[in-house]
Amino acid sequence: MTRTAFKARLYVPGNLATGVSIIPDKGQQHYLASVMRLVTGDMVALFNGVDGEWQATIQSLGRRSCSLDVMAQTRPQRASPDLWLLFAPVKKARLDFIAQKASEMGTSVIWPTRTDFCQVTRVNDDRLAANAIEAAEQTERLDIAEIRDFAPLGDVLDAVPEDRLLIWCDEASAAKGDLNAVSVFAAHPKPQRAAILIGPEGGFSENERSILDQRENCLKVSLGPRILRADTAAIAALTCFQSVYGDWPNIT
Ligand code: SAH
Repeated sequence: MTRTAFKARLYVPGNLATGVSIIPDKGQQHYLASVMRLVTGDMVALFNGVDGEWQATIQSLGRRSCSLDVMAQTRPQRASPDLWLLFAPVKKARLDFIAQKASEMGTSVIWPTRTDFCQVTRVNDDRLAANAIEAAEQTERLDIAEIRDFAPLGDVLDAVPEDRLLIWCDEASAAKGDLNAVSVFAAHPKPQRAAILIGPEGGFSENERSILDQRENCLKVSLGPRILRADTAAIAALTCFQSVYGDWPNIT
């Protein structure tokens, strides 16, 4: 069975193996029955973030009960490129948007970062995680982006190991053609691991700029002549990265 033959794709935490019976949560039951209008005997795809993708048959789907029988693995586990997104969070809807789109783009870690001019003081991790799961279901990726706790830029930078290339999206370099992200990436050897850094609506402070300017293994890049909103900038940077270094060139 090809993957497109599945009428629905669900993330289910827990063990997946032939013969296991899965009870989807209430939201998933509603989705299967009322949104997708599936019935007993229909096939769905299941994944848990670590064991690849599995084919399951709907054993029962009613008002009170729903159970899925796991049949066979249809795809082995495959990791997304080792790419982190560090970003100064924005207000609710656009924050959801960033988590969702970054997951769709194959980001492995999503890390809200408090910079000097960041306007947001609290971040709801559960909401970000729900967005990451929904995006994985949607895009057929097999792993789930990890959501890290909101932390100050200094701590986040300390936690980025030296061998992880830091890609600093710098609004002050916007109009510098020689810093164009795609040309900078093309001229630099492919990194095994990387982290993209996006600032807040207020941009980076002078202090942050001098820290980033001095950092080893850091590429300063421009995302074109226009100043993008942070959510657009995140997607633009992820797109450039994935198309040059990431998993776009070797799609299987
Ligand atoms: N208020 C700032 C803009 C901040 S935009 C100003 O007017 O200068 C929010 C973040 O998006 C920036 O910190 C940067 O990380 C990224 N960004 C937006 N446009 C960019 C561009 N053209 N090049 C590089 N980074 C950009």
